[in-house]
Amino acid sequence: MTKQRFYVTTAIPYVNGRPHLGFALEIVQADALARHWRRRGAPVRFLTGTDDNSLKNVQAAEAEGVPLRDLVDRNAAAYAALRDPLGLSFDDFIRTSSDPRHRAGVERLWRACQASGDLYRKLYQGLYCVGCEQFYAPAELQDGRCPEHGTEPQLVTEENWFFRLSRYRERLAELIESGTLRIEPASRRNEVLGFIAGGLEDFSVSRSVTRSRGWGIGVPGDPDQVIYVWFDALANYLTALGYGTDAPAYHQWWASGDRRVHVIGKGILRFQSIRENYQSTEDRQVRTGNSSTVLRPVATSMKSTAGAISARTAAVCARPSAGTSGGRSSARRRSSRCTVASRMPMLATSSRRSIASPK
Ligand SMILES: [Zn+2]
Repeated sequence: MTKQRFYVTTAIPYVNGRPHLGFALEIVQADALARHWRRRGAPVRFLTGTDDNSLKNVQAAEAEGVPLRDLVDRNAAAYAALRDPLGLSFDDFIRTSSDPRHRAGVERLWRACQASGDLYRKLYQGLYCVGCEQFYAPAELQDGRCPEHGTEPQLVTEENWFFRLSRYRERLAELIESGTLRIEPASRRNEVLGFIAGGLEDFSVSRSVTRSRGWGIGVPGDPDQVIYVWFDALANYLTALGYGTDAPAYHQWWASGDRRVHVIGKGILRFQSIRENYQSTEDRQVRTGNSSTVLRPVATSMKSTAGAISARTAAVCARPSAGTSGGRSSARRRSSRCTVASRMPMLATSSRRSIASPK
């Protein structure tokens, strides 16, 4: 029995389409992990949700000819409705476009970054893949095309807010190398360390209102800009707990929590491990100053590689599974083609009904 508190989270999918099997697998893995720790007597909080503020969602609504809000609400509901057919036990479900906790928390996070001197404006030109919702350096492209989507990125020129990620290279490397922030399996940890060693550049964290069609969370104090969807979405792990407030959940599961475990697919490894951990490390320093271990284990996969979950105790799979991505309608759903090996099948085959579900 353990009394350590576990905060388990998943990536949150774009809702430009309906759920596909890849995301189902990812969330079932996270669910198995949450159930495992509950059965060991540990307090567990399990969060999932949807990423509603993507430009992809805007384009999907335009393509369908339906109001954006209707499309987002409809598809987000389909994700939330996975709960019963998949027997999921999540404690909380956050939607980034409609949950009042989220918008307020993202605005607080933005202001905190601004106050610490991490944000500045700059004219920028870059190659942008809407499918990925990110800029690519020319060297990252394959024959001039997005390595994930095979499409030609758009050349975008605009003035945006930038985040000083370059400041955090050494600190991030140190946290990962020391095991304070764990990424599993080791091959993915090495991939992230290699990425950091190659240098971390400041990156754009806002979009023009015009290009985003005004959809998303506005930059506080700048009516021309909308917060970049990744900056917005990655904050959900904090905002769901009441980041920046006196919410007991925030202190229980984050500021004073024992373990925070994040299950994702390898396609989003860089964003999640680098940019999100910035939030994590900042938060830990500013908010708590304690020595509790922050964990960012990453379940990986996509197309072929099996994922892992876990932290110190629950080692899980590293078995390749053949297959190709089942769809492209959601970049964050492209993540999961994991075959769960080792201990997980035992958990997965336990009677769902016999395991206490919090809701
Ligand atoms: Zn792409």
